[in-house]
Amino acid sequence: MKTQILPAQQDNTAAIAAEIIKNNGLVAIPTETVYGLGANGLNEAAVAKIFAAKGRPQDNPLILHVADASDIEKFCHSIPQSAYQLAEAFWPGPLTMVLPARDTVPKCTTAGLPTVAVRCPDNAVTRQIIRLAGVPIAAPSANLSGKPSTTTAQHVLHDHDGRIDAIVDGGPCRVGVESTIVDLTEERPRLLRPGGITPEQLISVLGDLVIDKAVVGQINPNEVVKAPGMKYRHYAPQSEIVIVTGSREKAAAYIRKHITQQDRVLCFEEELELYKGCNPLSYGKESDASTLSAGLFAALRTLDDPAISKIYARCPEGGGVAYAVQNRLKKAAAFHIINGEEEG
Ligand code: AMP
Ligand code: MG
Repeated sequence: MKTQILPAQQDNTAAIAAEIIKNNGLVAIPTETVYGLGANGLNEAAVAKIFAAKGRPQDNPLILHVADASDIEKFCHSIPQSAYQLAEAFWPGPLTMVLPARDTVPKCTTAGLPTVAVRCPDNAVTRQIIRLAGVPIAAPSANLSGKPSTTTAQHVLHDHDGRIDAIVDGGPCRVGVESTIVDLTEERPRLLRPGGITPEQLISVLGDLVIDKAVVGQINPNEVVKAPGMKYRHYAPQSEIVIVTGSREKAAAYIRKHITQQDRVLCFEEELELYKGCNPLSYGKESDASTLSAGLFAALRTLDDPAISKIYARCPEGGGVAYAVQNRLKKAAAFHIINGEEEG
């Protein structure tokens, strides 16, 4: 199959993409978080194609993308007031809510769970495609399973050229990490994945938030978890990643002492000077975490090279969007973290 590239600003792009979705084909869609690999979320056969194209485990459910907040009533039941408050505050935007699923949502989309994840993306052309198709679009991130997520149309083409019908090219994604996921099906709201909407923002609306253990630590593959996606190795280039913590100077001293010709450094823009001669790659400014979230996956893709043996990475600290960057980088590093202050 020839994969069509449809520029977002082209007049007939939404109509062409919607037609493919209606015919149960696969279209990569731009969103403010990352590119999604989309299909008709109400059709088993269409959704099955997403799992096949990505090589995604069948027990990892997809997010249902809607054009308007009111659409969630078609796919969810027993919706708490807090869901409407969150939609009012943050939609369209990088927030996914997990709610009880109606029977209209096929098992393939929810991976057999009684709940479904829903989100209204902050991207006009993608919402127009959903409206014209007349169905919600089920979409996980458009990367091949396990690989760093796709934040440009070129990343999607690299992973899926000839294997999907079309890619809508909306330019680089603004946020750059996947949506925040909050589960609203229990007594207390639970953060399943940090993202562009921060824990602080959620608490400002909900007044309460439990942080799921999958957010902070490594999950045993046999464990039953709330967000099935959190247990898989994720976001990772081929080579090992080691996060080095500590002050700029101490971390640089540690890395410069241990680095070999086959290794690379993934650091903040402010640190490039400290790694002269070590071929460093910056993914954004430590002083502005939104540049780190926007740049992380493109950098991890650049470093996805079998010739690289080890990647020494610097990770931001603190809350806000930095919290989501930490979560992705620590998962990519399989929680391999060295304290540059202590190690010689
Ligand atoms: P992706 O956008 O590729 O990260 O995939 C969607 C994410 O949403 C995965 O981490 C899934 O585990 C999560 N997800 C989707 N549906 C549900 C659900 N019903 N309950 C909990 N997590 C979900
Ligand atoms: Mg993903």
